Amino acid sequence: MKVVFLGPPGAGKGTVGERLEKDMGFKRLSTGDMLRNHVKMATELGLKAKAYMDKGELVPDDVILDMVAEEMKPKEKLILDGFPRTLAQAQALDHLLKNTGQSLDLVVLIDVPDQVLIHRLTARRVCRSCGAVYNLITMPPKKPGVCDLCGGELYQRDDDTEDTVKHRIEVYKRSTQPLVDHYKQKGLLRVIDGNADPETVFNRVKELITS
Ligand code: AMP
Repeated sequence: MKVVFLGPPGAGKGTVGERLEKDMGFKRLSTGDMLRNHVKMATELGLKAKAYMDKGELVPDDVILDMVAEEMKPKEKLILDGFPRTLAQAQALDHLLKNTGQSLDLVVLIDVPDQVLIHRLTARRVCRSCGAVYNLITMPPKKPGVCDLCGGELYQRDDDTEDTVKHRIEVYKRSTQPLVDHYKQKGLLRVIDGNADPETVFNRVKELITS
């Protein structure tokens, strides 16, 4: 089964995707995580991508597509988190899947109001060592600034500051929202209300995937 997660930044795509990976054996492909990894390793691609990411802009399609193509070996259970984000990426994904004898089964749009997204993202903290994600309001670490799991240092992503978050939401509306119609027309789109606690949102997505 191949599932695309659509939704604005902060909708919970990563959190739900990680649970599906852990509990249900899905492989999760997150272009945001892949890019952050390139930035961390200071690869050529990472250096190119960082300037766009810090401003909350999309990284150019050709960079993303080269990066994703390498990962698109046929898989049984795949979650695409944060990709595609433009119509050009959606069309390229169709080709990539077709060329490897695969197709999309479902597109889940996780819907959350803007104010909630801003609130969630500005409170997000991430472990520098293991990548665990916390929220200062809904899921704070036991000890401030320290990861419960590995003792690593927690930090705020450069693109989680209020101004950049607002810009990312605008970029989402301009570049990614058109994909909602694209997938609706293909009969693949399902919408869930993501304005709830992570467990509830996970169960709503799980129900869609298993029904
Ligand atoms: P995310 O972790 O999915 O919110 O992604 C963080 C940032 O990485 C985005 O704001 C973009 O700058 C970049 N990014 C991630 N995925 C894509 C994509 N599919 N296309 C273009 N830029 C992307």
